[in-house]
Amino acid sequence: MQSVIVLCGKPGAGKGTRLNEFLKETDKKYKVLSVGNLLREARKQNTELGKKAAKFMDKGLLVPDNIINAIVIDGMKKSKEPILSDGYPRTIGQAQAMIDAGINPIIIDCEVDDEVVIQRAKNRLVCDCGETYTTDSFKPPIIEGICDKCGKHLHRRPDDNPEVVKQRLDVYRSQTEPILEFMQEHNVEVHTISNGDSDSETAKKQFADIMNS
Ligand code: AMP
Repeated sequence: MQSVIVLCGKPGAGKGTRLNEFLKETDKKYKVLSVGNLLREARKQNTELGKKAAKFMDKGLLVPDNIINAIVIDGMKKSKEPILSDGYPRTIGQAQAMIDAGINPIIIDCEVDDEVVIQRAKNRLVCDCGETYTTDSFKPPIIEGICDKCGKHLHRRPDDNPEVVKQRLDVYRSQTEPILEFMQEHNVEVHTISNGDSDSETAKKQFADIMNS
């Protein structure tokens, strides 16, 4: 089975940013799994999965384990490339499903304060093509409101609204954070990097060092 590297952290911890940055600089091929992107795509296509997921996503809640495990585990086992997983597992039930499937991941936990997450959500703009920008100086689009990559109009994620962000942080603390201890109890390697805005360069290097070790 291929190796699986899991990016863990609060919503808005900068998992996607670290991951994309690393992918630009490596020659190695990875399969990137972002359950959030898969679900947003299913919603756009108005599939049964998308309709079911929407009810949970818009409230800042996690989509139930049985639905998520069914769309993830098989693909993970069959992948021909190493997997970089952004946001799976997010519950003990999902972590257990991975262990039961014989998958022994490496975890990179991206740590940030709640205030950073709340501010990043306020500043985030996204494009339907998957690109992400900020309204501050970190990564603004060249033309305001327009995607540099595909030219479409940028918009805000509905779940970046402050009330929903607070809910997502509560969900992170109660359902996702406990998987770190659970994984350690199952002898899974867990690395922690500090991923605040001022730590960006160090975090980038630490991330690459773990990936290349
Ligand atoms: P993300 O883009 O990773 O922040 O995910 C957006 C939303 O998709 C989350 O708030 C959840 O509603 C849902 N989601 C993403 N990953 C998972 C997962 N592993 N388990 C359950 N729900 C998920």
